[in-house]
Amino acid sequence: RGKLVITGFGIQLGRHLTRRVESELDKADVVLAMMDDFSLTWLKGKYPALIDLSLLYGKDGQKDRRQTYREMELAILEPLRAGKNVCAIFYGHPGVFADVPHAAIKQAREEGYEAIMEPAISADACLYADLGLDPGMSGLQSYEATQFLVYQRPLDPSALVVLWQIGVVGDLTCTQFHTYSDRVQALVTKLLRWYEPEHEVILYEAAVLPIEGHREERLPLSELPNASFKTITTLVIPPKLEWLADHEALASLGVTEDALL
Ligand code: SAM
Repeated sequence: RGKLVITGFGIQLGRHLTRRVESELDKADVVLAMMDDFSLTWLKGKYPALIDLSLLYGKDGQKDRRQTYREMELAILEPLRAGKNVCAIFYGHPGVFADVPHAAIKQAREEGYEAIMEPAISADACLYADLGLDPGMSGLQSYEATQFLVYQRPLDPSALVVLWQIGVVGDLTCTQFHTYSDRVQALVTKLLRWYEPEHEVILYEAAVLPIEGHREERLPLSELPNASFKTITTLVIPPKLEWLADHEALASLGVTEDALL
């Protein structure tokens, strides 16, 4: 009976691949991969029979990504059902803002197969290092940008805020690989409920190739609609450090605000 392992390639080509992941790839009968073209070519050098899941994406504006995800899930489960040991490797961490890995593992387990996920380095792991931002200093809020925009989600501006998939923000058709400045403006308009227009935000892209540096473009929130975005861009909003003491909680500890200084 086959086993399913879903794992991650990390963000930077070759450099984030762990020994554990390599060993899972070596043991697998079937390897499927979802990553950028450079990384895929590199990995194909080691696993020539590798199946490229990214071929299932449609052209910009033409295919609903939710359909693509179900097809990827099927591509992973079919060899498993045929008794093979399957390893599917996704860029970044396979369980972070990634629909297919969680769905495939859940389905495989429901069908009685052993299925595990191995963690890997995600984009936010890189951003803490590259931007020198420790999520433990202020706390962290992390949202998918469109979900944050279209639902009434709470936002705590005193925490570090990370908005993923800003490069496709506002695309409710789930078919596009780009966004428009009026959609980014809609996001900015919403963020202005909590921040001043001049609050500095950061457009972040971790380096994918070892020869390139990361993107760290700092700009006022109000300028965001004029910026350029890629599908890998993440919006980082540093915290407003205006924390108010919770006097009731301090009193329950038998201390006053002075204890915080
Ligand atoms: N599983 C991935 C991970 O572990 O990072 C995240 C996949 S999610 C579908 C895609 C989003 O992740 C992008 O829109 C962006 O917000 C973020 N992302 C992916 N690659 C990135 C990179 N090189 N630098 C910064 N953010 C990245």
